Amino acid sequence: MKRLSGIVPCYNEEENIADFYQAFMQNEAFFQEKEIELELWYIDDGSRDQTASEVKKLIQKDNRVHLLSFSRNFGKEAAIYAGMEKANGDYVVFLDADLQDPPSLLPEMYSYLEQGYDSVATRRVTRKGEPPIRSFFARMFYRMMKKISKTEIMDGARDYRLMTRQVAEAILSMPEYNRFSKGIFGWVGFETKWLEFENIERKKGETKWSFWKLFLYSIDGMTAFSTAPLAFAAFMGVLFCLAAFALIIFTIVRKAIFGDPTSGWPSLVCIISLISGVQLFCLGIVGQYLAKTYMEVKRRPIYLVKEEI
Ligand code: UDP
Ligand code: MG
Repeated sequence: MKRLSGIVPCYNEEENIADFYQAFMQNEAFFQEKEIELELWYIDDGSRDQTASEVKKLIQKDNRVHLLSFSRNFGKEAAIYAGMEKANGDYVVFLDADLQDPPSLLPEMYSYLEQGYDSVATRRVTRKGEPPIRSFFARMFYRMMKKISKTEIMDGARDYRLMTRQVAEAILSMPEYNRFSKGIFGWVGFETKWLEFENIERKKGETKWSFWKLFLYSIDGMTAFSTAPLAFAAFMGVLFCLAAFALIIFTIVRKAIFGDPTSGWPSLVCIISLISGVQLFCLGIVGQYLAKTYMEVKRRPIYLVKEEI
C-alpha cells in the first residue's frame, strides 16, 4: 500500500476543518482502487480560535487525521515545510483549508503522476472575486519577476501541488529561513504538469492576507529569487556619476562663457534632493538583502511545535 499525505495549513479556520475533511475524503474510493491510502495533516499555524479542537474531534473518529500545532503563527510557508517534514507519504499534496484548492481535482492530478510527471501544479486563470487593486499588483509582481529572476514563477500559481516523495525531499533539502514556495517549487525543477482552473471564492471565514502582508511577501519573493535589485542600485550609481560629469562640464563651460557662477540655486536643490533620494533608495535595497541575510545566518528554526497528534 502506498500513501498520499494531504497537508493543510490552517490559521483560524475552525469553520472549514470538517468541510475540508469531507471534501478530501470524497477521493477515498478512487485512491483505494489504486492501492493508495489517504492521510491528512492539519498544520495549526498558531490559530486563536477552535481550529485545534475541531481537528481533535476528527482525530477521534478517524486515525488517518493528524494535527501539528505551532507555538505561535509562523506563516503558511512554515506550515508547508513542517507538513512535509512530518508526513511521510509516497505522495504529498498541499491544499488550503478554505476549499479554494478543490480536492475533487486530485484524481486528475494523480493521473499525471501515473503518466510519469514528478509533480502536478495548479494555477488559476481568473482572479474573479478578488479586489481589482490586488489583482493589478499581483500581475505586476509576476511580470516583473519573470524579467528579473531565472527561476520560473508562474502568474496565478497556487500552492496546490501534488508531488512525489523525491520532489518533496528536494524541497526539504532547501532549509532556508525566508521561504518563498512559488520560487522554491520552480527552483528544484523536475517534470511539472500545470493544470488550470477558475478561481473559487473562499467558502467560510475571510482571507488571512492583508495587502501589507502580501506586499512584504512579494519583497521576500524578490530578494529570495533575484539579485537584480542590487544590480539596479549599481546601475543607478553609474548613471548618476555620468550625469554629474556632464553637469560639471556644463558648469565650467557656462562660467567660462557667461561668467556667472552664483545663479542656479534652485536647480542645485533639485539635484541634491533627487540624488539623495536615489541614494537612500539604493541603500534600502542593499538593506533588504542585508536583513534577509541577517535572518538567514541566525539559523532560527522555521517553526516550533506545541503539540503533535
Ligand atoms: N494560512 C496559514 N498561516 C497564515 C496565513 C494563512 O496557515 O499565516 C493558511 C490559511 O489558513 C489557508 C491558506 O493558508 O488555509 C491560505 O490562506 P488564505 O485563504 O487566507 O489566503 P488567500 O486564499 O486569500 O490567498
Ligand atoms: Mg484562500
